[in-house]
Amino acid sequence: MTSETSTWQTPTILDPSSGTPYAPRVSGSIADEQSGEDDQPDDLPESEEALLAPLGPTGRVTPDFPAPQPLSAHGPARVIAMCNQKGGVGKTTTTINLGAALAEVGRRVLLVDFDPQGALSVGLGIQTHDLDVTIYNLLVERGHDIRDVITQTRTPGLDLVPANIDLSAAEVQLVGEVARETVLARTLRPVLDDYDAVLIDCQPSLGLLTVNALTASHGVIIPLECEFFAMRGVALLVETIDKVCDRLNPRLTVDGILATMYDGRTLHSREVVRSVVDHFQDLVFHTVISRTVKFPDATLAAEPITTYAPSSPAAESYRQLARELIARGGAA
Ligand code: ADP
Ligand code: MG
Repeated sequence: MTSETSTWQTPTILDPSSGTPYAPRVSGSIADEQSGEDDQPDDLPESEEALLAPLGPTGRVTPDFPAPQPLSAHGPARVIAMCNQKGGVGKTTTTINLGAALAEVGRRVLLVDFDPQGALSVGLGIQTHDLDVTIYNLLVERGHDIRDVITQTRTPGLDLVPANIDLSAAEVQLVGEVARETVLARTLRPVLDDYDAVLIDCQPSLGLLTVNALTASHGVIIPLECEFFAMRGVALLVETIDKVCDRLNPRLTVDGILATMYDGRTLHSREVVRSVVDHFQDLVFHTVISRTVKFPDATLAAEPITTYAPSSPAAESYRQLARELIARGGAA
């Protein structure tokens, strides 16, 4: 075990269910917590029923999330940013597959590729270098209609605003703009009534593009990879969310923290999840996404997991995430 430690700052984020400030139980350090040999949960559930129920991967009894009710009308959309300045934690994978799972239960979903790498667009089968207009043009040029840029994907109910490498210039170009942090919010506004959910796939940085995404959003989902340094940088991310909430977008709330690439066979994965739950408690989704090669395979096939491997546990995990998000009020 390494002597590396992460010092944790108490975040002042709001609990999405109650709207009250959420106060995590702060203990020494992640490294301290990970040194324990015993992987049994400390806090046993209190009710008798709960005592009999098996604990989920987060060490809590997983509630039954009800099947979402069909919607009789669509919109206005709730906007959610998929955010973590660390790369490779599952932001893009979660955007595609949560979006597809919401579409599967009849929600109209718009995905916004907000990363110049364009992985979200490519992952949905869009050849990004062929595109004349992308999110970049909507941000920095006048006179475009977002409806001309929205592309239907092969998944019914799932639309996309694509991006390509052009977007990398936007950050610099926007710096001189008036109200530069609200450009994406203004760009999305004309179509919010057409959708139930808008998911923004952020780039791995906390720069102006990500601040635009947070300013345009009602909620944030933070994917965390289940590995030792998962929480590194999360304090800075929470600080950024707090600042945006304070200065630009008071409605912004953390919808949840999603543990990804979980391997239940290893003590390591289980301990990382446990320490994340220790710090963030109910903000952590009960749903945990396991590590499986099906996700990279689905990306290669340019399909969501829900159609690439519809009956796999991987597809079921994103369906459960969609149900959990709806049950928490994070989506219609
Ligand atoms: P980010 O958008 O945060 O950079 P990605 O969603 O692109 O992360 O994921 C990074 C890589 O990890 C991709 O190759 C993706 O296919 C793979 N990946 C994502 N989620 C999982 C998972 N649960 N199990 C295995 N591989 C995954
Ligand atoms: Mg990505």
